[in-house]
Amino acid sequence: MSSVVANERVRCPRCSHEYEAPVYRHIDAVADPSLKEKVKNGSLFVRECPECGLRELVTSPVVYRDGHLLLCLSDRKVSVEGLEDVHGRLVADVGSFIEKVKIFDAGLDDVPMEFCKFVTRQEMGKDADLKFLRTDGADNDIIFTYPEAGQMQLLSVGFNVYEDCCAIVGRNPVITEGLKGLVKVDREWVEQFLR
Ligand SMILES: [Zn+2]
Repeated sequence: MSSVVANERVRCPRCSHEYEAPVYRHIDAVADPSLKEKVKNGSLFVRECPECGLRELVTSPVVYRDGHLLLCLSDRKVSVEGLEDVHGRLVADVGSFIEKVKIFDAGLDDVPMEFCKFVTRQEMGKDADLKFLRTDGADNDIIFTYPEAGQMQLLSVGFNVYEDCCAIVGRNPVITEGLKGLVKVDREWVEQFLR
């Protein structure tokens, strides 16, 4: 499988200029590593009017495949074939899509990562919308971002917290047993195990 991209004619909502913009339907990160980079830096989801420079977020559905990760961006229920032996994930927004790609690209797993975010929120004592950004330094600290007071904040968490969460997931097979097909592994999903 290789990447599928279509050119779509769009009209700029500010200056009414019509132009062609690429729309990605399927991304094969192994065949097209440059597209993976465009996902990670977010540029794949932005189109810019060549006339007036207006930048818009592109949110059309896309399927992303990278090794054992199959990630589907859609706000609807979708069916995708070939889900044996893969991490099938469904996300509804671009921010979560980019986060999943970053997590798996860092060699980490989103299941313990959601537990790690839960634990971190508890530690912070506030309801922060944490997103994994990257690992950092010799100790592989986990760097999260979250919005606060109109700005993006950075938060560093020890890698041992993530490792502890991996151990929790390993001790509780019920957590991973339900991971069949396309699953929305997010905050709500993790909280069902923590009530
Ligand atoms: Zn324009």
